[in-house]
Amino acid sequence: MALTITPIPAFTDNYIWALHNADGQVYVVDPGDASPVTAWLTSNQLTLAGILITHHHADHTGGIDGLLASAQVPVYGPAGGHIKQIDHTLQEGDQVTVLGHAFDIMETPGHTLDHIVYFHPGLPDDADSVPLLFCGDTLFAGGCGRIFEGNPTMMYNSLQRLAALPAETQVFCAHEYTLANLAFAAGADPENSDLAQRQVTERDKRDQQRPTLPSSILLEQRTNPFLRCHSQGLQAAVQQRISQKIDTGVELFTALRRLKDQA
Ligand SMILES: [Zn+2]
Repeated sequence: MALTITPIPAFTDNYIWALHNADGQVYVVDPGDASPVTAWLTSNQLTLAGILITHHHADHTGGIDGLLASAQVPVYGPAGGHIKQIDHTLQEGDQVTVLGHAFDIMETPGHTLDHIVYFHPGLPDDADSVPLLFCGDTLFAGGCGRIFEGNPTMMYNSLQRLAALPAETQVFCAHEYTLANLAFAAGADPENSDLAQRQVTERDKRDQQRPTLPSSILLEQRTNPFLRCHSQGLQAAVQQRISQKIDTGVELFTALRRLKDQA
């Protein structure tokens, strides 16, 4: 049975992703706020069945208590004991079954040390089934999360693993940062025609008040500078901008992240 995936907007630019099936059962990813989730469940006559957490930040966890107050459901998330409501801890290599769909857990430290992502590889017998990735604040459309707790090498390695997932994987990020990310990306990678085309497409979606998400791994490979640290054109452009020689992918990633933090 296929999953339907719906973004529930929260705060100014968060998306709480809701996964639901034909039986009306719902899992939500990173409920930073309970009220939009409760309102959405009520208006669609759906029932909360579980909560998935990617990392400890309050805009991803602040709604857990409010949801648990009216529904006793399992809460999955990173191990460590620092998110007290989690009753099913997950680590690298674990699997969690969400409404009959198996998701693999990958640890992707960098934004935070506890960050995990949820990857469903798709069902081989079902032509309608595509791989799905819920990646929190690790990978964004056209960008990546800030490095708050890890270091650039950690974040680079985490993103490299996501970049190696199947090209058709649908990517569900936790924020609508796409236009700002692409504006930065276009400055860093001015010769990239896929990127220029994407700016037009995504701006059209926002003009119509539509989410730019989900993205895909293929689109990110082509247009996200943080996944393109092997690109000689990008390397040359960034070297010129910072007047410093860059030798490795990690160095290019570090320079890009620093430029974006200063933007
Ligand atoms: Zn975060």
